[in-house]
Amino acid sequence: MQSVSQVLKIYNSISGEKENFNTVTKNYVGMYVCGPTVYSNVHLGNLRTFTSFDIIYRYLMHIGYKVRYVRNITDVGHLENDEDQGEDRISKKARLENLEPMEVVQRYTYDFHETARKFNLLPPNIEPTATGHISDQIKLIQKIINEKLAYVVNGSVYFDVLEYSKSNDYGILSKRNLEDLIHNTRSLDGQSDKKNPQDFALWKKAEPKHIMKWDSPWGEGFPGWHIECTAMSNKYLGDLFDIHGGGIDLKFPHHECEIAQSNVCFGTNAANYWVHANMLTLNGQKMSKSTDNNILPSEIFSKGSPLLSKTFSESCVKFFMLQAHYRSVLDLSNDALLAAEKGYNKLMDSIEILENFENFGDKTNFDVKEWVNKCYKAMNDDFNTPILIANIFEAVKFINKTNHENTSISKDDWEVLLSSLKSFVFDVMGLEKQNLAYNENSKINDVLDVLLELRNDARKSKNYELSDRIRDLLKNKGIKINDSDDKSSFTIE
Ligand code: AMP
Ligand code: ZN
Repeated sequence: MQSVSQVLKIYNSISGEKENFNTVTKNYVGMYVCGPTVYSNVHLGNLRTFTSFDIIYRYLMHIGYKVRYVRNITDVGHLENDEDQGEDRISKKARLENLEPMEVVQRYTYDFHETARKFNLLPPNIEPTATGHISDQIKLIQKIINEKLAYVVNGSVYFDVLEYSKSNDYGILSKRNLEDLIHNTRSLDGQSDKKNPQDFALWKKAEPKHIMKWDSPWGEGFPGWHIECTAMSNKYLGDLFDIHGGGIDLKFPHHECEIAQSNVCFGTNAANYWVHANMLTLNGQKMSKSTDNNILPSEIFSKGSPLLSKTFSESCVKFFMLQAHYRSVLDLSNDALLAAEKGYNKLMDSIEILENFENFGDKTNFDVKEWVNKCYKAMNDDFNTPILIANIFEAVKFINKTNHENTSISKDDWEVLLSSLKSFVFDVMGLEKQNLAYNENSKINDVLDVLLELRNDARKSKNYELSDRIRDLLKNKGIKINDSDDKSSFTIE
């Protein structure tokens, strides 16, 4: 283990505090993160959550832990309204597009993997699917029924929240009060099978039309969304593991229900640290697949979007995300991306300057050791990437000074600075030096912006001959102009 004399602290949603990180088994970490529901393309909001956990995974390995990272694929059971109502999201897509449900699953799992690879997210060690673990789920449901904390009605099985609450704290994570839940949960049509509206489904009876269904002791049906994660995390990480993560929108009901199930089945809260990543918003609203308020990765990286003046590289977008702490809400805007791009390019330039540096002196006008310490301190404080980036920019400032003013750096310090800088930027944050031909550098961007402006002037003065000529000439060079009513943007093909 790396000799960092500092303790890692992680914010635990259960206690609402930053706690010292102590693992169940020395030097080993078990981490489970709720994966995507594969019924449509992942959007940038999903990517933000997976990036937050990618950084946590990378940093834990960087400081010497052996990590087993399990992230599932939800391919059944996630209903439209996140609770027990509505159609299964995957079945619905299959019905609308006239596909087999597993064709839908295959298509969007592939999309997710492709996008994660482009975003340089490390693959998890195990990626179980919910449909591949139906028998494990049935066993757990049976166990909960045997404990008399679930009941069977008309081919469905429900968790009895009131009964559970007699000796457990339902609300331990979301801090919701059961009394309030009882008063605020509406009794919806179709939920009449439940004893109480706040009970949640462990198994749902399949109607004859339903396409995704399995045999069970209670008849043909399909599992509830919450039991899937309990079954998969327990199978690969045991009765009590270290970190359970997901987006903050999963705290309730999904994670609260997982904790309840785990208490009944294993007598634990499943994980010691429940970690939640905050949302990416667009125009101040949560980005979401089920509403149209989202930007797809392909739009931002290559196709272009009417909301953006240009495309941005994956590393630049990731750099933009890491400028905010994972527990803060982050709003996406064109201006913020443009600013992040400048910062990212500056960082890449200074790494190159440092790599090629040759003019060593006897001493260094920068405390490299202290700087390395500060970088670890930031990450040990609940993975504080904005502070890490601020520290990194202190080094960037020094590097540029060394370059322009010939401020001295010794060979030994140079080695430490270069290797630490590269390991924080490339290994811990997972940024990449993006190909300039693909991610145009900022000067070329500026030139293209000038061309767009001149072309817009031509359009405004109805000089369509000139505006079309600019468009066609750029098109021949593989640069596509996307026109909308009030502005134009370009895409490099
Ligand atoms: P889903 O595919 O909807 O099950 O979501 C996959 C993951 O993305 C979950 O951990 C969600 O909490 C997370 N997520 C969904 N929307 C956003 C968003 N706008 N910002 C950040 N994370 C999100
Ligand atoms: Zn889950």
